[in-house]
Amino acid sequence: MSLGNAWVVLPNPAAAAGLARGARGLADEVNAVVVGADAALPGADLTVAVPAPPVGALAEGYAASIAELLQARGAQIVLLGADVSSRLLAGLVAARLGTSALTVQGVAVEGDGLVVSRTAYAGLATTTERPAGSPAVLVVAPGVLPAQEEAGAGRVEHVDMAPAPEPLRVVEVRPKAGEPVNLAAATRVVGVGRGFADEADLRLARELAAALGAELACSRPLAEGLGWLPTERYVGVSGATIRPDLYLAVGVSGQVQHMVGVNQAKVIVAINKDKNAPVFGQADLGVVGDLYDVLPALTNALAR
Ligand SMILES: Cc1cc2nc3c(=O)[nH]c(=O)nc-3n(C[C@H](O)[C@H](O)[C@H](O)COP(=O)(O)OP(=O)(O)OC[C@H]3O[C@@H](n4cnc5c(N)ncnc54)[C@H](O)[C@@H]3O)c2cc1C
Repeated sequence: MSLGNAWVVLPNPAAAAGLARGARGLADEVNAVVVGADAALPGADLTVAVPAPPVGALAEGYAASIAELLQARGAQIVLLGADVSSRLLAGLVAARLGTSALTVQGVAVEGDGLVVSRTAYAGLATTTERPAGSPAVLVVAPGVLPAQEEAGAGRVEHVDMAPAPEPLRVVEVRPKAGEPVNLAAATRVVGVGRGFADEADLRLARELAAALGAELACSRPLAEGLGWLPTERYVGVSGATIRPDLYLAVGVSGQVQHMVGVNQAKVIVAINKDKNAPVFGQADLGVVGDLYDVLPALTNALAR
């Protein structure tokens, strides 16, 4: 079952650019509104290109005009990414449409409507519900919607919009430091947690990841508390959702808020020195052992 149309909204061409390919699994026609677009969004049938905001202005200023456009074009579902600008725009557009923006961990079409799943009680429960408002405005983290192959018709329509004056002004734009991360596309992921005693010890995980051809991910404390890895690398209810073939959790306890982001991996392997760690309850394979012994042994074995 699928809907007639889905609309993807991007506050800039780089934000959640893969969302259109995911939306294809929900609707026959996938359209996009992209602020600052100069080309068709891959996966979209129609890209409505909105001019980039003037220097100092924010894409959020387009919220009212975008909401109007979505209403006029009969949008049935509106999807935005989980980055900060997209979340902001989601709330503003939803308010203009008289509905609310929902952050979802799953979306499906059932019968003639949508069913979404969301985490509740800080990840301790999952709710399954039909969004009340129409159109549904959903915030979707990378990896929640599996990407479809279909390219889309690739039409582009330029629509002139001017952002409404906002009290906030951009005073400086700086490129983000560090290498780009695309956990959602990774087929193998090594996830590291607080079991590592020191930042320098992450070298052991990096060597294993290199031997496996895997991306490195982490639990939230490593990114937000310790700052050892960028926030794009943490998975879970408030981080990325991933669907790799293999997720190897190393020194990760397996709290529900973390596992929500990885429980769609095909195979989960856990290495933890505590045999009672919750991660073993969800792992397909488990090694009870000290990561400082197990990781070098595993990397050596893979190198042979
Ligand atoms: C609202 C909310 C949202 C949250 N969102 C997220 C989220 O999105 N993602 C997320 O990850 N967390 C999230 N959390 C935090 C989450 O609840 C856990 O606190 C966190 O995931 C724990 O990280 P950890 O497993 O790295 O650390 P710990 O829970 O401290 O676990 C460390 C593990 O390492 C093991 N260990 C220690 N030394 C070794 C060794 N030498 N060898 C092998 N194993 C060893 C220990 O036995 C332990 O199991 C959230 C929490 C809240 C309240």
